[in-house]
Amino acid sequence: MKSNNFPTLSRRSFLKTSAGVLAASGLAWPEKAQAARVGQLATLIDLSLCDGCLDRAVPACVSACKTINGDTIPPVADPIPVPWPRKTVEDWSRKREVSDRLTPYNYLYVHRAEVEQDGERKTLFVPRRCMHCDNPACATICPFAANHKHENGAVIIDQELCFGGAKCKTVCPWEIPQRQSGVGIYLHILPDYAGNGVMYKCDLCNDRLVRGKQPACIEACPQKAMLIGPRDEMLAEAERRARQMKGHLYGKDENGGTSTFYISPVSFDRINATIKKGPGRPDMKPGVKRQMAGTDPLGKAVLTAPAIGIVAGAAGALKWLAGRKSKLAEGGKKDV
Ligand code: SF4
Ligand code: SF4
Ligand code: SF4
Repeated sequence: MKSNNFPTLSRRSFLKTSAGVLAASGLAWPEKAQAARVGQLATLIDLSLCDGCLDRAVPACVSACKTINGDTIPPVADPIPVPWPRKTVEDWSRKREVSDRLTPYNYLYVHRAEVEQDGERKTLFVPRRCMHCDNPACATICPFAANHKHENGAVIIDQELCFGGAKCKTVCPWEIPQRQSGVGIYLHILPDYAGNGVMYKCDLCNDRLVRGKQPACIEACPQKAMLIGPRDEMLAEAERRARQMKGHLYGKDENGGTSTFYISPVSFDRINATIKKGPGRPDMKPGVKRQMAGTDPLGKAVLTAPAIGIVAGAAGALKWLAGRKSKLAEGGKKDV
């Protein structure tokens, strides 16, 4: 299976791929997977292969993600300013080791689902992180233009522009972005009145993608349960595997379409019914609709809320930008 706009695969880069699974499926991670050259990427997560890494204290994918993102968050202000009037401060800096939910220091975790099918009990493991949606409301709604869908499919929050207002989290059906207070641009402007930190989430390892490397979690998975490749190929492969296992697909239509395709032998309704849900532990309800910023009541409310923050933020952002080299071009940013 080959994409017309994909470079030919060299023997060396082939050997660096998730060899067995990719070779068997005819799919391959391209040499120099530069976003501009290969177009939109997507990932496939095959729940029939993920075993939850039960032999490890922390799943290999989670551990790899924590390692490469370990120093992403700068030192946190002490004390952290308490913003007026909301008084919400979120500080995970003393709980960095938490790996069983999403936090600003943990972009990936693995759900456990105990399900019954055809009279048989089954345990499924579901790695969760940002879905890198096709038309992400989290990016559309950001009043500081700090969140963008890039050409390669990655949805990335610019940590140097984010004020931590959490509007992206409000419109995300899975409430994926997580806030760390006491860091970021807001500290340099009006920390008591505008902003509240920085939002953090999976960026699809964009720095690695632009260097032709796979995301760390995918590379680390001993079961080769996750793949990345051109979106059309990943979708075709996900549909093929779902048919073959008489299974189910998640992520194709949810939230208006995403760049993460889960396949499972068990329906996502059943998985959703049994997983532990709550803050930092999103549900997996099939068919979730996109919240349209500006056209639904929630989007309108969120957009009109922080006038003072927008004004202060715009002024401050200009000041901040004067001394900052923009990194937004890296990876081919695409405004949405
Ligand atoms: S999953 Fe949530 S945070 Fe990620 S791109 Fe979609 S809407 Fe944005
Ligand atoms: S793609 Fe990168 S940032 Fe995202 S979950 Fe995997 S390792 Fe973490
Ligand atoms: S996706 Fe791979 S690394 Fe992550 S829990 Fe499953 S088997 Fe382990």
